[in-house]
Amino acid sequence: MTRPMRKARYIVLSMVLIPAFFLVGCAAPRPVPDRSCESESILIDAHFEGGQMGTCAVRGEGQFELTLFPEDAPPINKSPWYAFRVSGQHGDKVRIRMMFEDGYARYWPKLSRDGETWTPLAESQVSTDEEKGWMNLELTLDQARIFVAGQELLTERYYDDWLDELESHSEVSTRLLGNSVQNRPIYLAETADRPELVLLIGRQHPPEMTGAISMRSFIQTILGDTDLARRFRDRYKLAIVPLMNPDGVAAGHWRHNVNGVDVNRDWGPFTQPETNAVRRWLENAEAGGMELRLLLDFHSTFEDLFYTQPVSENPLDFASRWLGASAVRLPDFPFKHEANPVSEQPNAKNYFYTSRGIPAITYESGDETSRGQIESAAVVFAEEMMREMLK
Ligand SMILES: [Zn+2]
Repeated sequence: MTRPMRKARYIVLSMVLIPAFFLVGCAAPRPVPDRSCESESILIDAHFEGGQMGTCAVRGEGQFELTLFPEDAPPINKSPWYAFRVSGQHGDKVRIRMMFEDGYARYWPKLSRDGETWTPLAESQVSTDEEKGWMNLELTLDQARIFVAGQELLTERYYDDWLDELESHSEVSTRLLGNSVQNRPIYLAETADRPELVLLIGRQHPPEMTGAISMRSFIQTILGDTDLARRFRDRYKLAIVPLMNPDGVAAGHWRHNVNGVDVNRDWGPFTQPETNAVRRWLENAEAGGMELRLLLDFHSTFEDLFYTQPVSENPLDFASRWLGASAVRLPDFPFKHEANPVSEQPNAKNYFYTSRGIPAITYESGDETSRGQIESAAVVFAEEMMREMLK
């Protein structure tokens, strides 16, 4: 589309939309994110799962300004997600300024040539102010396309591979648990029925990749061919829901599902299909005589930490025993144990603790913790969890 045509379309649209805006009231409408933006020889786009570039303005040849904003009006968790592809010719220089509305540059930018392998951008390529209200990126293309994102892009393909991996295990079967708002499948991977059950859920919040990395390594350990893992599986049924918010992940959201709801504030209200899918299945399992013994919910935040119920002394609570034993084995992996009073907040942790009286724990992995460390720590956390649960 040529520029004059764009301008004409804009004027016509304005004539329709501005009066409509005053008719419906003065609440500022949420802008619609752009899907692409081009200068003479550089194209930026977000035409892929998880893609998010906010709105884009061209400031010169190879110079762009992106404004990132949350999918819903504030208050919303300040975790501005961005993921876009930059295309051009080998050697092209590109400058991108990112502005964050209702947020700040929480995620250090990562770069990928194939959308699969990611490396953090060098510090010399990134500048930001103290409040991180904006971030400038300087890129030089060394092939036709590169991807830039706040974290590794773990979308449908990642979860398909993961499901394949789970299905290839002789003791695991998978089933459709339910549908998301946009009818994406929500899958459960499970081992054989046992009287006692452990439930693991992940990715309620779209940008929280390190939680997914922890969860995958943690589950791999429980499904491992070790004496400890076999004994654990002989006693406990495992129920695994790796991807709780597939619509939010696909849309490149900061936090919510596509109904504008934080899935991890719907455990209790149960107004959303994603949480209801898990509840329905669990209540059915319980009606069949199984008892839930532990809930682990995988997330990401600024550091590695576990949110648990209040600590009890005599006998010492499960979380303190588990995390204490893990800490002894992880002297070079600092993490926190935050035992908070149970609140009214309808998150998975509070819901499963309040309704079942079981340890229900949020497993948080650091946004920028080394991925290798996250994976190897998850092995230790899984082993110590199994040991404690077998006592
Ligand atoms: Zn989270």
